[in-house]
Order: sequence, then C-alpha cells, then structure tokens
Amino acid sequence: MPARILIAGGGIGGLAAAVALARRGQSVEVLEQAPAFAEIGAGIQLGPNVTRRLKSLDLLDGALKLAARPPAVAVRDAQDGSLLARMPLADTIERKYGGPYLCIHRADLHGVLLEAARALAPRVELSTGVQITQVAARGDTVCVGAGAEHAWEGDGLVGADGLWSLVRRRVSEDAAPPRATGHTAWRALVRIDALPAALRSSEVQVWLGERLHAVAYPVRAGAFLNVVVIAEVQPGGAWVQKPDPADWDQQADLAALLAAIGKRCDGVFPLIEAMPQWRAWLLNDLPPLSGPQDMVRERIALLGDAAHPMLPYLAQGAGMAIEDAVALADRVGTGAAADLPAAFARYAAARWQRNARVQARAQRNGEVFHAGGARRMARDAALRVLGAHLLDNPWLYEG
Ligand SMILES: Cc1cc2nc3c(=O)[nH]c(=O)nc-3n(C[C@H](O)[C@H](O)[C@H](O)COP(=O)(O)OP(=O)(O)OC[C@H]3O[C@@H](n4cnc5c(N)ncnc54)[C@H](O)[C@@H]3O)c2cc1C
Repeated sequence: MPARILIAGGGIGGLAAAVALARRGQSVEVLEQAPAFAEIGAGIQLGPNVTRRLKSLDLLDGALKLAARPPAVAVRDAQDGSLLARMPLADTIERKYGGPYLCIHRADLHGVLLEAARALAPRVELSTGVQITQVAARGDTVCVGAGAEHAWEGDGLVGADGLWSLVRRRVSEDAAPPRATGHTAWRALVRIDALPAALRSSEVQVWLGERLHAVAYPVRAGAFLNVVVIAEVQPGGAWVQKPDPADWDQQADLAALLAAIGKRCDGVFPLIEAMPQWRAWLLNDLPPLSGPQDMVRERIALLGDAAHPMLPYLAQGAGMAIEDAVALADRVGTGAAADLPAAFARYAAARWQRNARVQARAQRNGEVFHAGGARRMARDAALRVLGAHLLDNPWLYEG
C-alpha cells in the first residue's frame, strides 16, 4: 500500500518531488496557494549535477527542447568590459560531468515538471487556490488546514513552500525568519533578434563590479536573452516602487536601476540600456543549515528554498530543490506509510551538508563577485591566470 504524501507548494521543488515520489509508486497531492500552477521570474542555469537528475526523472529531453545550451561562460570586468576568464561549457562540461549545462526560462522548466506531474494522475493530484495556514502532526498522520473549512490528511508532508515557508516553522519552532540581505536583483528578458548585433551572445556572460554584478544568458532555445543585475543597495532606497520582500515580481524601471548602481558598470551599460523593461526582487536568505534537524521532523520534511534559501550567486537554488526531490524519493522508495519517518530521516542525513555547503559557497561568491579595492585586484589577477580552473566547480557538478 503506497503512502499518501502531501506536498505544500507547487513550485519547481514541489513538482519535482511529486514526479519523483509518484514514479516510485507513492500517492501525492500538491497543494498550491496560487490560483493556477505557473512560474513568474527569469531564467535559471542548470549545472550538470541538476541535468543528470532531470535525466533520471525522464525530464531531460523535454527540458532540452526549451533550453539553451551555451558554449561557454565568460567573466568580464563590469567597469571596462575586459575579459577576465572564460570556461567552455557545452560538450566539454557534458563529457566531464555526464550532463549538459543548460539555461532555461523558469516557466519552461516548471511547465516540463507540470506536464510530467499531470501525466502521473491519479497518483499525483494537483490542487490550486489552497493556502496552507495550519500544520499539525497527529499520531501517524499529518493534517494541514487552509482556512477554517478545508483540511487534508496525509501519512507525511513535504514542505516545498519556498522562502517564506510556513512548514519550516513546524519543523523548527524557533526557526528565524529569512534575513534581508540588502541585495536587490533586477531582471529583464528580451528577444535576441531585437538587440543590436554587438550585444547578441549565446554565452553565459558575467560582469563583476564593486558591490554589484550582472549576468546574461540565452533562454527559450536561444531566442531570448535573460539579463539580471544584482547590486548591494542602501536599505530603504527607493529602487523599487513598493519594496516587498515577498514579491518576486516588482515593477522597476531603468532610471531607478541606474540610480541604484551609479557608474559602477559602464562595461555592461549598453546591454542594460537595451532592455525593454525591468522587474525587481529583494533578496533574502537564511544562514546555512546546521544539521539534519533543520530539514526533517518525524513525518514532515522540507525541500528547496523552504529548507535552505540562498543567494543566487552559485546559480543552484532550484538545482538543490531538484536534487532534494530525487534524494527524497530515493529514500522513500516504494516503502509504506509506516516507513516514512525513517526514510525522511535518511533523506535529511544525506542532504543537509551538501545544501549547507552550497548556501555557504553562494554567500562567499557574493563577497568575491562584489569585492572592491585590493581584494578585487587580487581576484581579477587570479581569474586572468587561472581562468577556467577557478570557474569550474567539480565538488558541485560531480555531486
Ligand atoms: C535572481 C535569482 C536568480 C536565480 N538563478 C538561479 C539559477 O540560475 N539556478 C538555480 O538553480 N536557482 C536560481 N535561483 C534560485 C531559485 O529560483 C529558487 O531556489 C527556486 O525557485 C526554489 O524553488 P522552490 O520550489 O523551493 O520554491 P518556490 O519556487 O518559491 O516555490 C514555492 C511554492 O510554494 C507556494 N506556497 C508558498 N506558501 C504556500 C502556502 N502556505 N500554501 C500553499 N502553497 C504555498 C508558492 O506559491 C510557490 O508556488 C535564482 C534566484 C534568484 C532570486
């Protein structure tokens, strides 16, 4: 008899968990607060550690049709645009790590997961418009409530409810709320053929400046360019119209972006200026996980941003959510409801250190990316000499 597992949240992590668990024969219901399953936001990069997991879920072919497979990553100085380092991706990385390096629009990846989840009905049930407000463990079951009238009961609950997770508070009652980092991300999307030829590129491009960096890469099978500028700005600055840390999709404009970044990135200015429209997003995170107890409590497990929100400076937040989903399903396997607490405990034991390492490295990358003065000069010199060697992450991509 399969277990009945409730999943709070139908983002990339929640849907990946639904697909992975249902493929093992488990029965899952995804409860999503939004009125429809959808993803806003920008592009995401998927390293070979993630695309290997997508392959194991039979989702890689679907993702490949929608993604771009960039030939290289090029790192430049944000001030003068000079090249600091380049690392080949494409065949080189696929041969080395057994999976491609892809750039995909978040909505496209979410769509691939949603289609797979729908195809697994009735083992996967998908419910929208359900904002979970209560979670209670009762004997061998977990009950979740949405308002006063609606309740669901499962043998286990997976909290995939993102940065502001309600389920996290049920796992660790003293869990601190996410902390404001003072970093703001602006993002824009443009058709590549609408750009002047000099600004078109199929590479992952990164520009490093003082207290800021910018990233651009193709998505939608190479038809669009996704551009993100992340800058450390003064708290309370009017860089977005109504700062709301829970809103991933705030209205922003070029003038406010330029006021926030000043003259720190002349080398990337032509690209910034060519974008038709900007949206903004205030970045929050949590300190790295301190042990398995931060991810699981008896019949309740956390995954993705609900467990380990991080700065996007290693481009692995969604990647870790997908890794979590596969690891969780591997531990739960075809086991029965009675086995869930032990399986969840094995999952947390297997995952917490890697997630904590990725969180810590993402934070450190931010310090290195945004360095000024002597530290910046040392970083640039090292990048010029060691190039691809410094950009590669074997511990991450092999894991
Ligand atoms: C600027 C930027 C760039 C990034 N780039 C990359 C990248 O290149 N590569 C990468 O891997 N990652 C990247 N990330 C990180 C990545 O976006 C996140 O880590 C990932 O989306 C987390 O997925 P998730 O499913 O855990 O959470 P979410 O995507 O936040 O999904 C949570 C879901 O739960 C729902 N929910 C919340 N509360 C409730 C509730 N009470 N009841 C019911 N439903 C609820 C929400 O509506 C949502 O659908 C980036 C992040 C940022 C900010």
